[in-house]
Amino acid sequence: MINLLKARLRHGYQAIPNPLTVPIHESFPGLPYIQPDADLEKLNRLCPVKAFCEKGLDLGKCVFCGICEREEPQMIDFKPNYQIATDAREKLIIAPGQEKLPPIVPINPRLIRRSFALRNVSAAGCNACELELGASTNVNFDMGRYGIEIEASPRHTDALILTGPISRNMADALQITWNAIPSPKYLVLCGSCAISGGIFAQSSELKREFLSRFEAQLFIAGCPAHPLSIIYAIHSFMGAK
Ligand code: SF4
Ligand code: SF4
Repeated sequence: MINLLKARLRHGYQAIPNPLTVPIHESFPGLPYIQPDADLEKLNRLCPVKAFCEKGLDLGKCVFCGICEREEPQMIDFKPNYQIATDAREKLIIAPGQEKLPPIVPINPRLIRRSFALRNVSAAGCNACELELGASTNVNFDMGRYGIEIEASPRHTDALILTGPISRNMADALQITWNAIPSPKYLVLCGSCAISGGIFAQSSELKREFLSRFEAQLFIAGCPAHPLSIIYAIHSFMGAK
């Protein structure tokens, strides 16, 4: 017992005091700022996933490789802002001159304010989003302090959190897991693969019809999504104080 207490004192308090307000390292490529006079077509030619459109940059497609910023730093600057999630797909497009994304509107705080359980389906991503989702629950980020848990059984969950672009051989497993979650249930897309197909978007091995049958309520950008983005998004979605 004495040794346990000594170890506890030696380790100190490990968790981030408040993951919703903590400053993040300045090198983190989060929400970009696009100059109002930026040449979006030129930026799109540089982009490996063609994430720019006439309205701005689609963060649901961006894989945060940094090429556009390195080549045209006077046009675009990725800020260390991890609040890169929205409650609607179209809100992920950030326009030139826009400084932040619209706040996430809570879905139904009376149902899920204090507790929100998610089941992850890893549908053929590179495993980095799954690692970051796992890290969200570790002693450092401690997502569980807000009542947010990743569960093993879909029967015990409120939502499905999808990572990966959905390959053919994961399409049925995704549907079966979704069917097993009791209603009301929510769909969360985590990472650019889940939102848009990401770097795999052009692959003939994808089968993403699930997303045309069921509408997602929460979109978390990133490649991979950062634990702080995940916690910010789900906490806001819950309407928790
Ligand atoms: S950081 Fe995003 S927008 Fe820029 S080149 Fe890479 S994928 Fe494209
Ligand atoms: S979004 Fe990026 S990090 Fe996440 S699974 Fe896809 S390739 Fe991997």
